[in-house]
Amino acid sequence: MIVDGHCHAGKGDGLTGPWDTDAPLEAYLRRAREAGIDRTVLFAAFHSDYGEANRQVARIVGSRPDLFYGFAFVHPDRDRGRVAAIVQTAVVRYGFRGIKVHRHDGRITREICEVARAYALPVIYDVMGEISVVELLATEYPSVPFIIPHLGSFADDWRAQLAFIDHLVRHPNIYTDTSGIRRFDLLESAARRAGARKLLFGSDGPWLHPGVELAKVRALHLGVAEEREVLAGTILRLMRAVRIPSVEPVITPSAPDASPEGDPWVNEEWPTRVR
Ligand SMILES: [Zn+2]
Repeated sequence: MIVDGHCHAGKGDGLTGPWDTDAPLEAYLRRAREAGIDRTVLFAAFHSDYGEANRQVARIVGSRPDLFYGFAFVHPDRDRGRVAAIVQTAVVRYGFRGIKVHRHDGRITREICEVARAYALPVIYDVMGEISVVELLATEYPSVPFIIPHLGSFADDWRAQLAFIDHLVRHPNIYTDTSGIRRFDLLESAARRAGARKLLFGSDGPWLHPGVELAKVRALHLGVAEEREVLAGTILRLMRAVRIPSVEPVITPSAPDASPEGDPWVNEEWPTRVR
C-alpha cells in the first residue's frame, strides 16, 4: 500500500501561478497509477475562501472515496473565530482527516492547534523556512501531530532544513513529508537521525511528479518495515486516530498576530545616551 500524503486539488481563485489557479488531477492520477501509488491525501490550492475550496475538494474525494482522503485548508487570519466550524463540517460532513495551514497565508494560531487537539487531527503546516515555531508547536501541543512538509522549506533553504532536522529528532509529535526535497543528503540525514517513522511520503502533486518523488523514498534504501511506514503506515495511523468530540469544543479565537514582523526585540532601539 502506498499513500501520497500531500497533493493539491481543485480550482484556486487567484491568477498568480499554478498554486492559486488550478490543481487538475488527470495527469497526476495517470502518473500515480503508473508509479504504484494506491491512495492520495488531497487538499485545496491557495484560495480566498477555504470554505468554498474545501467543498470542491470534498466533491472530488466523494467521487472516489476508494482513492482519496481529504484535509481541510484553513486560513489563520481570515478564518479566525470559525476554524472549529470549518473543521467540524470538514470532518463530520466530508469525512476529512486533517488540517492544512500555510505560512504564506499567515502564522499558525492557537485556535487552529486547539481545534486540531479537540479532533485529534494531524496538521500539515508549511512553515516556509520559519523553523523556530516548531519548538513551540511541539511543546505547547504535544498531542497534536504536526507534519512540516519539505523539511521546512520548499524553497530549498539549506539552513532551515538542517535546523529542522534537530526538531524532527527531538520531538515525538513532529513529522515531515518528503515532497519537494531536493538536497538528498538532508533527506538521508533526516531518515538516519530522526528515524524513518518521522518521514511521510508526499509528492506535492499535481505540480510535482508523484513517481519522481516516490523514487527518492526508494533511493533511501530503508528496511522493508521502515519503508512501509514511510509509504503508508504513519499517515494511516495518524488519520485513524481522528475522533469527533461528543460535545462541540469551545475554542477561543486567537488574538491577532501581536508581532507580524517577527521578534519584537530585534528592532528595539537602545538608548543612545545614558543619563
Ligand atoms: Zn503543497
